[in-house]
Amino acid sequence: MSKNITIALSKGRIFKETLPLLEAAGITPKDDPEKSRKLILDTNQDDVKLVIIRATDVPTYVQYGAADIGVAGKDVLMEHGGDGLYELVDLHIAKCKLMTAGMVDYKPHGGRLRVATKFVNVARQYFAEQGQQVEVIKLYGSMELGPIVGLSDLIVDVVDTGNTLKANGLKPMDHIADVSSRLIVNKASLKVKHDRIQQMVEQMKKAVNK
Ligand code: AMP
Repeated sequence: MSKNITIALSKGRIFKETLPLLEAAGITPKDDPEKSRKLILDTNQDDVKLVIIRATDVPTYVQYGAADIGVAGKDVLMEHGGDGLYELVDLHIAKCKLMTAGMVDYKPHGGRLRVATKFVNVARQYFAEQGQQVEVIKLYGSMELGPIVGLSDLIVDVVDTGNTLKANGLKPMDHIADVSSRLIVNKASLKVKHDRIQQMVEQMKKAVNK
């Protein structure tokens, strides 16, 4: 294992809100991922690189050690399952909620409910805990359409203000979990590169708690 440190981040909100925390750990990227097409960004520290990937891929990169450290939403981590990684710090950024939602006039029909979502594992587990048999339909986006076009009775999605649901005639229903971004670390990396990673984690933790 090389002594370099690779940090996996997704573009957009997580990248923007993680930047000040990286700065607190003395790490400044040399490129802006919104402007550059590069997938690997150099930083001011020769031994630290950033890989810019899809949010749902971050736990996978960290699990397999392709990245030592990552920042991922709790929603993504719950869906992934967390194998091979430690969730070390709640960064208190990119906050939202995982919820069920249905049409504003939703009434259960007594039969087996259909639930459309990209969070299939979370949905299966949640409804099993409720003792409710459901059919989970995997979608990759625009879950709100499911109940509108009759594909599903309910959806499981992340909700922030609720405006997207409202604009589409849906209402938030059951709260499944609070979501914020977490700093995750590959289990083997934490052993092999302990001092370097621990130092970074502590500096970021301090910046979060300021
Ligand atoms: P809302 O403010 O509820 O209308 O949120 C709009 C959409 O943004 C939602 O449907 C989500 O797909 C997405 N969203 C909001 N907050 C987050 C977040 N913290 N992480 C990921 N997606 C989010």
